[in-house]
Amino acid sequence: MEINLISDTVTLPTPGMLDAMMTAKVGDDVFKNDPTVNALEEKVAEYFGMEASLFFPSGSMANQTAIKLHTQPGEQLICDKYAHVFNYEGGGASFNSGVSCRLVDGNRGMMTANQVEESINPPDFYHSPLSTLVCIENTTNKGGGACWDFEELKKIKQVCDENQLHYHLDGARLWNALVAKNEDPKDYGDLFETISVCFSKGLGCPVGSVLVGSREAMDKALRVRKILGGGMRQSGFLAAAAIYAMDHHIDRLSEDHVKAMEIAEVLNNLDFVQKVEPIETNIIIFELDESKMTSDAFLEKLTENQISIIGMGQGKLRIVTHLDYTQTMHDHFLKTLKTIG
Ligand SMILES: *Cc1c(COP(=O)(O)O)cnc(C)c1O
Repeated sequence: MEINLISDTVTLPTPGMLDAMMTAKVGDDVFKNDPTVNALEEKVAEYFGMEASLFFPSGSMANQTAIKLHTQPGEQLICDKYAHVFNYEGGGASFNSGVSCRLVDGNRGMMTANQVEESINPPDFYHSPLSTLVCIENTTNKGGGACWDFEELKKIKQVCDENQLHYHLDGARLWNALVAKNEDPKDYGDLFETISVCFSKGLGCPVGSVLVGSREAMDKALRVRKILGGGMRQSGFLAAAAIYAMDHHIDRLSEDHVKAMEIAEVLNNLDFVQKVEPIETNIIIFELDESKMTSDAFLEKLTENQISIIGMGQGKLRIVTHLDYTQTMHDHFLKTLKTIG
């Protein structure tokens, strides 16, 4: 039994999802003629109570498009030092939009409204880049799947309004936050100008992200997506998977969260584990006491048992639970963990 816990992107489409894909009605989406893509875009817009949305091949492209919509070259966006848009999109903010990132030293990928306010360059001080965008990430990836306090997001929105800053949410794993905190997606739609969501993370799709916002913003986003090479033809096959995932795979995320909690409990009881970050959703970040067990030795023991997890650098290890991580695998993994040491 191979157990892959390196990411929630390793899932394969379920039989139900494959069936939805195979029977999808499709057309040429570059001509806006794919009924399934159109249906997905309407469904996501409605889910967030926003006007329109646009299907993308990846979350990075959706975020990069949002950054392009909200900024001009030379300007600066504000984000946490852990942000995906800064760390894991290949420098796209500078490559595509010519903007720099002002990094905030937040907590587990989350900043306070005060920190955001302090990071705004004075608009009349023309020597520094003009601050024009705040990017939030919920849940935080590098921050270990942490969920924001919605009240803080509202305070940051107020800072944005007072300082003419745009407000984008990288919601690759927003689904997990909505389930974990029992929140209403429409509250997020009210607060943010644009939101990106991923279908290939916890929801089990092979491909796909959506950017949601105003009709005007999405009309512009369509042009940016074209420039980035993100126009797809019979992408209804992929959109069908996303529709299926919204209908069948959101509520079950709580199962991934329970499993993550149980793994953390076992880790906490291993004497060579130094620290396990608090578990809020499906990501577990932890550190070993390297004097008792090195990360390499630990990873090797897991590999011997056909279990894969991933190192994040700086001595941190990561486990992510997901749709294809079954109860049988879970029981086996917990048992294996208890025998290591
Ligand atoms: C995965 C992820 C993305 C998008 O990644 P792609 O691989 O480009 O789809 C964006 N933001 C966060 C926080 C992510 O975890």
